Amino acid sequence: MPAIKDIMQTMEYGPAPEAHAEAAAWIADRPVLGHFINGRFTAPEGPTTEVLNPATDAVLCRVALGTGAEVDTAMRAARAAQPKWAALPGHERARFLYAIARHVQKRERFLAVLETIDNGKTIRETRDIDIPLVARHFYHHAGWAEVLETELPGLAPVGVCGQIIPWNFPLLMLAWKVAPALAAGNTVVLKPADLTPLTAYAFAGICREIGLPAGVVNIVNGDGATGAAIAGHPGVDKVAFTGSTEVGRTIRRQIAGSGKKLSLELGGKSPFIVFEDADLDAAVEGVVDAIWFNQGEVCCAGSRILVQEGVAPRFFARLTARMETLRVGDPLDKTMDVGALVSHRQRARIEALLAQGEAEGAVLHRAPGQLPAKGAFCAPGFFTGTAPAHAVNQTEIFGPVATTLTFRTPDEAVTLANDSRYGLAASVWSENINRAIEVAAQVKAGVVWINATNIFDAGAPFGGYRESGFGREGGRAGMLEYLAPAWEKAGKPRPAPAPLPAVTPADRAQPDGIDVTAKLYIGGKQARADGGQSYSVTGKGGAVLGQAALANRKDVRNAVEAAAKAGGWGGVTAHNRAQVLYFLAENLAQRQAEFVAALTAAGTPKPAAEVEATIRRAFWYAAQADKFDGAVTATKTRHVTMTVNEAFGTMGLIAPDEAPLLGLMSLILPAIAMGNRVVAVASQSQPLIAARLYQVLETSDLPAGVVNLLTGERDALARTLADHDDVAALWYCGSAEGAGMVETASAGNLKPVWTDQGRLRDWLDSAQGQGRDWLRRACQVKTIWLPYGA
Ligand code: NDP
Repeated sequence: MPAIKDIMQTMEYGPAPEAHAEAAAWIADRPVLGHFINGRFTAPEGPTTEVLNPATDAVLCRVALGTGAEVDTAMRAARAAQPKWAALPGHERARFLYAIARHVQKRERFLAVLETIDNGKTIRETRDIDIPLVARHFYHHAGWAEVLETELPGLAPVGVCGQIIPWNFPLLMLAWKVAPALAAGNTVVLKPADLTPLTAYAFAGICREIGLPAGVVNIVNGDGATGAAIAGHPGVDKVAFTGSTEVGRTIRRQIAGSGKKLSLELGGKSPFIVFEDADLDAAVEGVVDAIWFNQGEVCCAGSRILVQEGVAPRFFARLTARMETLRVGDPLDKTMDVGALVSHRQRARIEALLAQGEAEGAVLHRAPGQLPAKGAFCAPGFFTGTAPAHAVNQTEIFGPVATTLTFRTPDEAVTLANDSRYGLAASVWSENINRAIEVAAQVKAGVVWINATNIFDAGAPFGGYRESGFGREGGRAGMLEYLAPAWEKAGKPRPAPAPLPAVTPADRAQPDGIDVTAKLYIGGKQARADGGQSYSVTGKGGAVLGQAALANRKDVRNAVEAAAKAGGWGGVTAHNRAQVLYFLAENLAQRQAEFVAALTAAGTPKPAAEVEATIRRAFWYAAQADKFDGAVTATKTRHVTMTVNEAFGTMGLIAPDEAPLLGLMSLILPAIAMGNRVVAVASQSQPLIAARLYQVLETSDLPAGVVNLLTGERDALARTLADHDDVAALWYCGSAEGAGMVETASAGNLKPVWTDQGRLRDWLDSAQGQGRDWLRRACQVKTIWLPYGA
């Protein structure tokens, strides 16, 4: 070892290894990791696979590949434990979560070393970021357990949660999943990634030590097949997954129609936008944290650096200089900046993508220096000279290499930032607060850091837009993923709608020569169905009430296009939207008698009550339009962390067959109150109410295209909407099979889908047909981090 006086001569780093004897002994005691089921460690029944230290290639131990039978045993344990766990007073659950947090803190150093040995990430990061955040998550959620009844009243735990986590933040991802689930009164079956099972196993030990009731936390080790067995198990009520978009899509399809709740936290290709008025040195340090943190194996890594042209040469020069100082090597050495990748397979995958980038003509700049002879190390770097369409700009590299592009104007920056199928995170660097916030509002991402990057907190919701998934982890929004109204599963199955009677062809005029077919309402105008077809609608006693237009795929596309053109609706003030909704309520009230008569003719059971409730509901959503607020969350010091409720854009709405007016409006009102435009499919059996509605919409100052109304075959139209890439979210109130169909189809662009699983609800009851839950579903949470002070 060099003497200090020699080091002072050269200022070179000396070795600073973290002691790892305790972790090594712990590993040596456990040559084969089985599972943790019903409060006991169990030996594997099936095959096992090697667990390696990716920094040394040394075999650490073997881990079980859980079988279907083992998953089943764990599920039964979780099911058996759930009612008692949920029945505990919140304070009792909170005490268990506090105890976990305390134990994590007591073992902070041990867990940090274990994580580093297993994953290859640096001890600096496991010690200073991963493990403290794990403790923070359990503390925060202990608090939620304590205050659940008063803060989130009327909600019940969903039941048994199947949780599947990746290898990039093994213990932290466990904490993100387990803490809220337990706080809400659920029990869990969790599968760590087979590459990194150690800290979850150690966590199981903590659960035992604190006396957590058996079956509340079950950990089943295994690979993708084990994960699929968990997600597909009939005993699971909710699936929570973090990992690749590809597997997220597979799970979406796998559990479609099962009624299981789902949250997906998937990949990203997050923009890191540097304006010419940014503090360039700070932005360069930001890149270090954005893409070289955790070897770039971060779903929200700032992996696409967008630099304003005027400062690009200076910025790249400084970035190169900074990159050259990065130290890559033994992750247990406290002076290392970059450790090993998780595996040689991951390294090969990354290097193949980098080679593709070079083959496409981009220039790869990499940190100089010798990489260790052993281990899955990868030199940090960045590309210049890429084009937006290059594979390296579109595909998640998931390694320590960013791409770069330049832009001239803020508009161009936003366009480039949004030129991705993902929407997980973004960083904006500018000393001009107006510009930074304006860009933050326009970027399609679930998390935006202003003059910062990769900051996390248990109180700040985290999750994606678009193909980065749906659902949030952290804070109030995260808790709601693990709760549901208790009455929701009680509804009876919805009867099938009246079958479509013989369709009337386009050229068949009515007997008296007047075409009385009710039309579609698209882009603020009445429109004939594209195919020119209609179907007759019968009411009470089988009387023919009239003809409704039979919309087809083309009509859906036209309606989605019209909705897209009405984008201004999301930009008007909440007050403006409230005014329009009040006006709409008034106009409905003026025509109350007419609607009651129409519903009476249709044979609905409580026409007068239905119309009255519709009017009241319009007033209620008008009132909420400027009150369903975001929040400023207490996270870190000197940070304002804002959670903003943003509209999705265009939503597809499939109205229930019962309560043709109230059901339809119960979907439309919250959606438009939050700034969405909608394409709504009216009741298949009683679509003529929708045709009456357009007159109300027209006289209410609602801009053209905000509400588009279609009539026709429910499931055919729902299918087209679920398939459509420009429909950002979908609500479906049809049959149980139809719910499965739309959920499967939605896997294309991973739009969030809410269905009532084909169960009837009482639309007249404001607890079931109205409320903040509807408003919450009508928007996605964007979390904006804004540091202040020196
Ligand atoms: P995966 O999505 O395959 O793995 C995530 C988790 O899902 C692991 O526990 C995995 O098990 C499990 N899994 C795999 N297949 C299934 C399945 N069919 N059903 C249920 N669970 C399943 O990610 P990879 O590890 O393969 O990484 C590939 C790429 O994914 C990375 O290069 C990166 O681009 C992206 N990724 C993104 C992450 C994020 O945080 N957004 C995290 C990890 C990866 P096991 O690993 O044991 O086989």
